Amino acid sequence: MLARSVTRACRLTACVPAPPGPGIWGRGDEPAQARCVVKQQIRRFGLLEYHSHDLLKQFNLPVPKGFVVASAEDARSVVAQINAPSVLKSQILAGGRGKGKMDSDGRGGVRIVNSADDAFHNASNMLNHYLTTTQTPPEGLLVQKLYIYRAVDVTHEFYVALTLDRSRGSPMLLISDQGGVNIESSIDSLNRYWFSPSTGIGDGALSDIQARLHFTDTDMVSVTHILRQAFRLFCAKDATLLELNPLVRTPERAFVCIDAKFEFDDSARFRQPEIFALEPPPSDRADEREAARHGLSYVRLEGNIGNLVNGAGLAMATNDLISHFGGSSANFLDIGGKATTETLIAAFKIVTSDPRVQGILVNIFGGIVRCNMIAESILAAADALGGLRVPVVVRLQGTNSEEALKMIRDSGLNLHTETDFEAAAREIVRQTPSYQ
Ligand code: GDP
Ligand code: MG
Repeated sequence: MLARSVTRACRLTACVPAPPGPGIWGRGDEPAQARCVVKQQIRRFGLLEYHSHDLLKQFNLPVPKGFVVASAEDARSVVAQINAPSVLKSQILAGGRGKGKMDSDGRGGVRIVNSADDAFHNASNMLNHYLTTTQTPPEGLLVQKLYIYRAVDVTHEFYVALTLDRSRGSPMLLISDQGGVNIESSIDSLNRYWFSPSTGIGDGALSDIQARLHFTDTDMVSVTHILRQAFRLFCAKDATLLELNPLVRTPERAFVCIDAKFEFDDSARFRQPEIFALEPPPSDRADEREAARHGLSYVRLEGNIGNLVNGAGLAMATNDLISHFGGSSANFLDIGGKATTETLIAAFKIVTSDPRVQGILVNIFGGIVRCNMIAESILAAADALGGLRVPVVVRLQGTNSEEALKMIRDSGLNLHTETDFEAAAREIVRQTPSYQ
């Protein structure tokens, strides 16, 4: 199950075998009663790679010495200065760049160049172009910066990730000797270790890693340092994910973190102001600004089902249920107690103007807000928008819901109605093209 609503490492952790029994750490080669553990849809804030490398450096983790450029001319001079094969890396908030496609020349977003002129030529085809990867929206993301470093000689690529396993209430380490761009097809190679946050990665886990990944004693000096420092960093910065893919070994048997990806839970914002200050400027998120203007609580997610819900708890439950039935939410939109015609029109506008949205679920529980008023507002919103371009399922329950659903059914608009929460979630997933 590699749903796109969670990030790559989370997707890799998403099918975690059941716990082996009491005790905090286990390897995870228990029978494959796979089940989802981290498919939660909270907004996760990530960093561009060069910021991630800065954090690794602060914790004494080995990274290449990199340079950030925003013009092809600067790419040329940096590579002339490096005077050796160099890597040009698109800085976007998504992974899979190596296997991605630039809209300019159809080539990937990570390239090794051999000369300054080669750097200029490639940088011209990368900067200010859109890069599409399996982790970007279909239209891709604009590359505005490149990160450049002297190409590292690589003899082996490893995968390392630290994340949280909510089912065990414990941090989890994933490690594989089949790292790199094809890790998603090598999930079976992942070794998983759980450990207590207070003791960190223990000696038992390290010995097991050495045996399974065939590390020499000398390798283990570097590997132990990297894993332990990575976990210190993970804790100190309130990360929910730290992924090193690849962590590479060089011919000299040195280890270098070539690519690093972080995620932080939004609720860590007040503890980590310097990290959240690296967030892209709000102009990147016109939909969130528009929602804030109407007092709506809106978070953009990565799927294709738009949700309009009243109440944060119901919004989270709705997203979970959509995931449960195999769908993927495009947003979390809580209209709160302000379910008026005006806010519903604003909410529908925000959701329908998102080109990724291919189905909408309206899930409203009428309490003080009466369902018949909500139904009127939905119909007025549909009218104001000149109809709705995607399938819509409306689930209303609570005060006056029968009358409300009848109004919607009688409206002649193509709106599917439900009273049951599960049935509504199942129906919108059924009506929406699957998110690949
Ligand atoms: P991603 O595709 O977004 O995960 O970007 P990465 O930074 O992981 O780069 C993709 C792939 O490019 C890596 O898995 C490596 O195989 C390759 N790569 C990146 N940097 C270097 C480097 O310095 N030397 C070599 N030989 N390969 C590199
Ligand atoms: Mg990578």
